[in-house]
Amino acid sequence: MLFPYLYRTRFDDTLAFFHPLTFDVLFMKGEPDDAAVEETAALAGLSRHWCVEEDFSYDSYIDGFLSDTFYGRIDIRILKMFTTTKCNLNCAYCLIEKNLETRGKKCRNLSLEDAEGVIDRFSRLCRSQDRAKRTIMLYGGEPLMNRETVFAVIRKIRHMEKEDAFNGPVEIDLECNGTLVTEDDAVFLREHGVFILISIDGIREVHDTYRRTRDGKGSYEAARAGYETLIRAGCTAVISSVFTDRYAENLDACLSAMTQDLKPKSIGLNLFHVLEEREIENDHTMDLMDRYEQAFLKAREEGLYIEHIMRRIRPLADKKIRVSDCGACGSRIVSDVEGRIGICEGLVGDDRYFLKREDYADVKKDPEFRRWSVRTPLKMEGCIGCRAMGICGGGCVSNALRQNHELYSPDRYICESSKMFTDLALKIWWNTVKAVMEEKKETVHLLSDEERGSLLGVLQRSFDIPLQTVSKQFEKRIR
Ligand code: SF4
Ligand code: SF4
Repeated sequence: MLFPYLYRTRFDDTLAFFHPLTFDVLFMKGEPDDAAVEETAALAGLSRHWCVEEDFSYDSYIDGFLSDTFYGRIDIRILKMFTTTKCNLNCAYCLIEKNLETRGKKCRNLSLEDAEGVIDRFSRLCRSQDRAKRTIMLYGGEPLMNRETVFAVIRKIRHMEKEDAFNGPVEIDLECNGTLVTEDDAVFLREHGVFILISIDGIREVHDTYRRTRDGKGSYEAARAGYETLIRAGCTAVISSVFTDRYAENLDACLSAMTQDLKPKSIGLNLFHVLEEREIENDHTMDLMDRYEQAFLKAREEGLYIEHIMRRIRPLADKKIRVSDCGACGSRIVSDVEGRIGICEGLVGDDRYFLKREDYADVKKDPEFRRWSVRTPLKMEGCIGCRAMGICGGGCVSNALRQNHELYSPDRYICESSKMFTDLALKIWWNTVKAVMEEKKETVHLLSDEERGSLLGVLQRSFDIPLQTVSKQFEKRIR
């Protein structure tokens, strides 16, 4: 029989059949019945995943695949380190500061002593695990509010790395708002091989709507100056943005500012992180999906790599399942400003999730880490059989918890956008294939690898930008 979760959609007189885990697409004219599809799939060499036994068990099928992935493993490769929770800005949608306020926590800097303790313990953990590339993300608040500690940590990491203290090379990423970057900082960061992510929301009018200083002034000029200082110094700096209502309204201008003016190698375009017990001003994410789709269409024409969208597109282009969407599902620890360890930055300040640990390997026995390590849409009720189950990874766990109060449930924002991008991919592929079918008078057509590539437009497949190891680690092809 046919694999039970093939997705079918019609284009003109042609039905498209899409396998949500192998991403193969078969176009067939007319109204073929299951037997005809099965026969065609077999002739196209797709039997292995398209034609299954009558007693097919999805659970065994997917468990076989997952056993060869990170699923259920706690193999920590990423340290996300809060260097401070203080910030010179007061962005309207800040996940960290707003949640800390709700949780009654004061903002403060990480001390040098605690910072060194975190790095030493992370190194011990890395040495107790298999060799692998590590990623240390220096985060805040605004990390440059605690510049001396941040720079001391960077020096220490690079020094320890030379002695192979992390059992693998280390990528260091600094996530900052750009406004405090000096020429000296830029030289230091370049010399120490630090990748920098600067928060800029497109153009001044958009950026300054929500990213304001504490006394209500816009921060665009200063953020942009910081970015330019880094680029002039030869740093690898990219731009991270939030997809707000204002960004959506000014989409063309925002993306043109990236492709024609600032020209970063890539940008992030985050959908909102949901806050604990409070609404974000003007969060209309669900109504802005068509604009998010437009962002990708423009980006694929102009060669702008939008990391958060490519997390959905890349699996479709490379035929790799995205098992989970966030390192918090088994490969990441987060340290807070008191040197405690937790699972997710969205939960910082919540004492149930952040604990003092002498031995970081203890997280491997922690029930919460274990529960998160098996969170994948491939096993979630309500997700199994969804056309986008191979690309969404279930989205942000913290969002799912806030939106549904249930760990094994979808992040609604990523869910909606993943379905949308699946439909868009099928539409793009159909537009690529239909002329070929007409010209050759074909009644059946299997999407070729070359045709699959049309999804990417002029986008490059991969290049040297921050956080790519982290972003791709949960992507794997089903054999
Ligand atoms: S989270 Fe949404 S997109 Fe992902 S599998 Fe579940 S229902 Fe589908
Ligand atoms: S679950 Fe969401 S908030 Fe938490 S670490 Fe992952 S992406 Fe960030």
